[in-house]
Amino acid sequence: MSKERLQDRAALEATVRRAYEAGRRALGSGAVANYIPALANASPGWFGLVVHPVDATEPVAVGDSDLAFSLQSVSKIFSLACLLNDDDHVVFERVGVEPSGDAFHSIVRLEEERGIPRNPLINAGAIVVSGRLKGATVDEKIAHFQGFLRGICTEGAFGVDEDVYLSEWKTGFRNRSLANYMRHWETLEDPMLYCETYIRQCAIEGTARGLARLGLVLANGGVDPIQQRRVLDGRDTRTLLAVMLTCGLYDEVGRIAVDVGVPAKSGVSGGLHAVVPGVC
Ligand code: GLU
Repeated sequence: MSKERLQDRAALEATVRRAYEAGRRALGSGAVANYIPALANASPGWFGLVVHPVDATEPVAVGDSDLAFSLQSVSKIFSLACLLNDDDHVVFERVGVEPSGDAFHSIVRLEEERGIPRNPLINAGAIVVSGRLKGATVDEKIAHFQGFLRGICTEGAFGVDEDVYLSEWKTGFRNRSLANYMRHWETLEDPMLYCETYIRQCAIEGTARGLARLGLVLANGGVDPIQQRRVLDGRDTRTLLAVMLTCGLYDEVGRIAVDVGVPAKSGVSGGLHAVVPGVC
């Protein structure tokens, strides 16, 4: 959809509604994740779609757009944004920016590449990012990150879903393995601090409407068009969009880039956050 058509509110609403109906027809073709047991409680029928143009104060929202769900890996792009905003660019000495082509929780390349995760959006890389958030404890790091989110999306609660957190904490052996393995290579210092922060970060709740609000900053070169203030450095925003485009959908990233062609980030709870730079 062109920028001109986006400014035509009726045309935008009709397009979003059509996309929503098409998505609804496809709902039965997937399944909810259950390797984190609490995620299996989600209804496969929940579906919301929100589009927020950069030059509009209100988004177009349909379906379950105000339903809170744990953000899971959609949170990874914002924890990286928070870290870069705190000027921790040294993180890129510990995490690469190349697509991995592997599943999100794969450990194979960590062995080949001496404990340096390929990128910040696979689990290994996101564990490194989360653990480096400002604060001495898990709670301080998460509070700092929640403050970052709430500073942009002032109406968002971004609380932690404790059931989802505990459920992943009890079953997250693979993420613990990644953290321990990276400790061996000295990519990180305290594997349990890093891993627990990561799992709590994934359990932070948001809504489709809130995600669209956060995405405005990414779509608008780092400047929040609603509060009219710069939130992120322009160069950092470019970095974030580049890693979304090249790494945001793990081993499906090439397919989605070919078929859809915009930077996006997925999460196992079903969220999909996409940015059309300069547009929405
Ligand atoms: N917390 C999830 C995990 O580490 C996030 C994965 C995802 O959403 O892609 O398994």
